[in-house]
Amino acid sequence: MSEWCQNKKCPEKKNQGQIRGSKGAKYYQSNKSSSYYFHWCSMGCRDQWWNEHKDTCMQAVGFIDKQIIPLEDAWFVEYRYDWRAEQQDRYHLVNKLKGVDQAITQQQAQTSEQIANQNYWYTINGTQAKELAVTLGLAS
Ligand SMILES: [Zn+2]
Repeated sequence: MSEWCQNKKCPEKKNQGQIRGSKGAKYYQSNKSSSYYFHWCSMGCRDQWWNEHKDTCMQAVGFIDKQIIPLEDAWFVEYRYDWRAEQQDRYHLVNKLKGVDQAITQQQAQTSEQIANQNYWYTINGTQAKELAVTLGLAS
């Protein structure tokens, strides 16, 4: 990763902070790339770079067809914070495509590591949710 903003037009912003050199030989230079914007200094420079290079990027990555998640794979676990609800009603095993929305326990909703770390809003992933649905007899 270069330390400099990858938008070649970055110096054209002509910001005060981009001025370098001594009197009579001054110039504008690119900003450093930011850790937040990765290879660019700002969202503006990232957008400008993307507008210029999106065709090249898409050719390199390749186009994909429509993606789908079928009914039997559409399980997920959701954490719903509600100060009125009891702790045990905060986790739900959901499959909207099947019309299922069932309260589950924290032990079912989270991995032992998530429980140990007290990350209440984290839940098991979609694959684990599907396995749980099978275990509970909601799916086969
Ligand atoms: Zn820039």
